[in-house]
Amino acid sequence: MIESGSSDSAASPPRRSRLIVLAGPTAVGKGTVAADVRRRHPEVWISVSATTRAPRPGEENGVHYWFVSNEEFDAMIERGDLLEWAVVHQAARYGTPRGPVDLALASGHPAMLEIDLQGARQVRETMPEALFVFLKPPSWDELVRRLVGRGTESEAERERRLETARAELAAESEFDVTIVNHEVHAAAEQLVALMVGPVSTRSD
Ligand code: 5GP
Repeated sequence: MIESGSSDSAASPPRRSRLIVLAGPTAVGKGTVAADVRRRHPEVWISVSATTRAPRPGEENGVHYWFVSNEEFDAMIERGDLLEWAVVHQAARYGTPRGPVDLALASGHPAMLEIDLQGARQVRETMPEALFVFLKPPSWDELVRRLVGRGTESEAERERRLETARAELAAESEFDVTIVNHEVHAAAEQLVALMVGPVSTRSD
């Protein structure tokens, strides 16, 4: 289900944009939805973020993230290499390398960033022409279930992430479009539909 956010009236279909910023609460499935888009829609370029957190089992450098040291991350900030960055879950820093985004857009590819709310707000400042999409869980209970089900975080880490999620859910109205993640593939298709096809200009 696609719901209109604050900027699109219910009467007008959501506008399309070459750059989509996908955000939403922790464990809503942003990463899984992005992976589905990557698998089925190679025409969509998806940004690989830099992070100071350690890789999880199965995660590959340059594929899931660029895993960098604190010093390397500092240097990226110094050089102005990051389009946005944030400390997420009070734990690690995450940021979007700017160069690859510019290249993808210049080459005409639809592009997507999968980032947290703080990052989305920064991109809103510098690239207001992007389309901001909020991925929402069907319910709060479902969000908790998904977070517990993932089993990759400690109890303390889970509590921290739920606290962040509560605040993030409240930010839905800042976004152009909401997609409810009932099912991964359907959510991914809704997302791609916002990127491909003719670009319309913003009317609001
Ligand atoms: P995880 O550690 O579970 O892979 O991701 C934690 C959170 O970091 C997710 O909410 C994800 O959207 C966010 N995140 C991933 N990459 C970036 C980024 O480049 N910038 C920002 N601001 N957040 C990011």
